[in-house]
Amino acid sequence: MVQPCLTARSGNRTGGIMLRLEHLVKDYYTGDEIVHAIRDLTVTFRDNEFVSILGPSGCGKTTLLNIIGGLDNYNSGNLVINGRSTKDYTDKDWDTYRNHRIGFVFQSYNLIMHQTVLQNVALSMALTDVPKDEREKRAAAALEKVGLKDQLNKKPTQMSGGQMQRVAIARALVNDPEILLADEPTGALDSHTSVQIMDLLKEIAKDRLVIMVTHNPELAQQYSTRIIRLRDGEIVSDSDPVREGEELEDEQKPLKKPSMKFGTALSLSFNNLLTKKGRTLLTAFAGSIGIIGIGLIMSLSSGMQGYIDRVEQDTITSYPVTIEDNTMDMSVLMSAMMDRDEQGEKKSYDGTVRSRAFADKLLGSIADTEKNNLTAFRKYLNSPGGQELKETASAIEYNYGITMHVYNKQAVGDKLVAVSPNGLMDELGMSDMISLRDQFMGGMSSAMPGSEVWMALPAESSLRDREYELLDGHWPENEDEVMLEVDDSGEISDFTLYSLGLMNQSELVENYKDLQAEKTEEITPGKPVAYTKDELLGMEFTLVPNSALYKKVGNIWVDESEDEAFVQEAVTNGRTLKITGIMKPRETSLGPVSTMGGVYYDRSLENWIRTEGKSSKIVKEQEAHQDVNVFTGRKFGDSAQLTAANLTPEQQMMLASLSQQELMDYMASYNDAANATYESNMAKLGIFNDDTPTSIDLYADTFEDKEKIGDLIAEYNDLQQAEGNDANVISYNDAVGTMMSGVSDIINIISYVLMAFVSISLVVSSIMIGIITYISVLERVKEIGILRAMGASKRDVTNVFNAETFIIGLLSGLLGVGLTVLLNIPISMVIERMTGVAGIAQMPLNGAVILIGVELLLTMLAGLIPARMAARKDPVQALRSE
Ligand code: ADP
Ligand code: MG
Repeated sequence: MVQPCLTARSGNRTGGIMLRLEHLVKDYYTGDEIVHAIRDLTVTFRDNEFVSILGPSGCGKTTLLNIIGGLDNYNSGNLVINGRSTKDYTDKDWDTYRNHRIGFVFQSYNLIMHQTVLQNVALSMALTDVPKDEREKRAAAALEKVGLKDQLNKKPTQMSGGQMQRVAIARALVNDPEILLADEPTGALDSHTSVQIMDLLKEIAKDRLVIMVTHNPELAQQYSTRIIRLRDGEIVSDSDPVREGEELEDEQKPLKKPSMKFGTALSLSFNNLLTKKGRTLLTAFAGSIGIIGIGLIMSLSSGMQGYIDRVEQDTITSYPVTIEDNTMDMSVLMSAMMDRDEQGEKKSYDGTVRSRAFADKLLGSIADTEKNNLTAFRKYLNSPGGQELKETASAIEYNYGITMHVYNKQAVGDKLVAVSPNGLMDELGMSDMISLRDQFMGGMSSAMPGSEVWMALPAESSLRDREYELLDGHWPENEDEVMLEVDDSGEISDFTLYSLGLMNQSELVENYKDLQAEKTEEITPGKPVAYTKDELLGMEFTLVPNSALYKKVGNIWVDESEDEAFVQEAVTNGRTLKITGIMKPRETSLGPVSTMGGVYYDRSLENWIRTEGKSSKIVKEQEAHQDVNVFTGRKFGDSAQLTAANLTPEQQMMLASLSQQELMDYMASYNDAANATYESNMAKLGIFNDDTPTSIDLYADTFEDKEKIGDLIAEYNDLQQAEGNDANVISYNDAVGTMMSGVSDIINIISYVLMAFVSISLVVSSIMIGIITYISVLERVKEIGILRAMGASKRDVTNVFNAETFIIGLLSGLLGVGLTVLLNIPISMVIERMTGVAGIAQMPLNGAVILIGVELLLTMLAGLIPARMAARKDPVQALRSE
């Protein structure tokens, strides 16, 4: 039953509102037809009466009510509220007026179907600054008053017409308005329920103005205090018009402007979206496809970038910055090979075949070889100025380019094997190929396995310990102690074993010859060998000092390193070296380092060669006559070739006494020596100057240190230039770094191109979301009307739809990123199965945040136009729509 007693309105209000309509006119224009809905209507309402407006359908009752309620505007005349004309009312004033002073009750209830009863009632307070729990309390109280105490959480769809109308009344009353406008409130109800609603309205009318439009004269007669009859937009009768001299208050009090918080808009839209979960999810999913596409590309590219960075950093740090005394500008060579002409485009074929300069560029790049003054640089490194550089480098190695001559007397196959320089290469006829490669690759060639098997251990033990791990025996304590390098699993390449004489070299050479002769059936694969550590530790090699490989013939010294008998003799007098330890390269973060294996000597061995050389006859002779080449007997710089014509008679005599082999050696060394200098001769004899390295390796522990080393060298160069020592400027090639950065550039380019393609799907999905928002606007037109009737501004309506796109955008962004993260798991697994590299597909966090932001922005942009359209809807039209 209806609660008979509604509490009285806030007691401190002295009087209500006074409304006056003066010569009000409202015309509707439909096409070329004009409908005069209200014609010259003048009427005044008291602040407390129950007015019924009767009249036939179409006479303008609803129009009048809408104008009074500020939902519709009039064409001419005036609506005076509390003595103030509304002609100069702004939109905001009307919103405020509707929110604070007007309560609407409609024939068709106009409840928001996706909100609960309580939320429907609380919504009209959502536009005020009443706190949320207070709102709910008040809404519950209002619902209690209309007898719906137990129905708070029902949805309107679960209620009868009479109950819904009571909810509408509670909603109209909850803001305690001064005017209640009811447009045929019982029009859709049976007579029994109608009476209940009328009772309620009568109760409400006790302390406010109620204007009710009705078709039912009996109800009007029975309940209202005043009856106005309308016909064709004009008043035909008024049972209790305001008489002249009647005392009416005209008070003005400022009212707070209503405004909806974004949170309210969000919850409104959230509830709306909840009623169509399936569609919302599908929309969000469709919107997320573009995000997934971009997300996957991002994941792969960042994962790959990360992997490359790791490889790059590892590779770059494991290779030192190497500065050689002679360095060739690799970039010139590269561009020559790639045929990139800086100037001009290429012509197309026009019947003439032209030459393209390649050889010149190649020769040019060789000729451009830069001389680095390593003596000055070394001095700088050991001066206070070079302190920072010296400390940034974890180790600095000075190399002096000493060629070691090492032999294995007890080689398998009973033949003297030249271990260093690697005689196997000569035997196979590959030495030319290798020297060519070394010439072009410069510092890189040491990174490539295969040519030499006799190498130097780092001079600094910290570097040695970083690079190698001792497996057996001990590190060298003397110059005659050497290390055997094996790989992680204790293996050495058979090629290395052949080179060291630990497998029968002649077998390999035979096979190679058979291969060249296409006698493949005669090739016998080398039998695998295994050496125990006891066999290896103590194994001996023989070093022949460089100076001991020359024989004085006449007045010159001839290279006898190709003469078997001479070498055999020199080996007998050579220095015995012993393997005293077995080591392996340390693993890097990328896994085990593969190695061909080899023998590593202690750098002190170089000093021994020098000392040995210094006491030799040939060195003494060269030192005594520093302008004469001991290998030719001529002055340095004399580049004449050896021909019969330019020989002196004594020389001719001397040559006649030589054996054929000696003669050939003589001619070779004579012609070889054309470019020789005193220094190069001394180096050849193993005499090096500590101050003049042939290359300097600067090692770094971290990638950053390596970069800093580059910067500090640049600083050194600037300093040298500033001081006018241009010749001291250092140049070097960071081939590994250049190669690596090229790879990441390519990945970046591919990623960007792919992302650009996939972005199209983002645009498409945004347009789709715009369309769906537009559909939502169409579906929620009624809601727009209700909100406007309750005093919501256009802005508030825009916000409701912005909130909807915000939710969809956020949802699809999160969905996209979430699905990307999920998809990354199987993708990573597949890639790991294929390549062995784990965790390649990984969504970067900042990328995820950016993607969600972009999706949010795009959907909100797409929803902007529909949201504006919603705001511009005429509230009266909106309320009429079904
Ligand atoms: P009632 O509520 O008394 O039935 P209305 O106030 O709804 O009548 O309408 C009064 C007249 O104005 C009617 O002739 C109606 O067709 C016309 N009318 C109402 N709204 C519009 C509109 N938006 N456009 C054109 N004509 C309208
Ligand atoms: Mg009507």
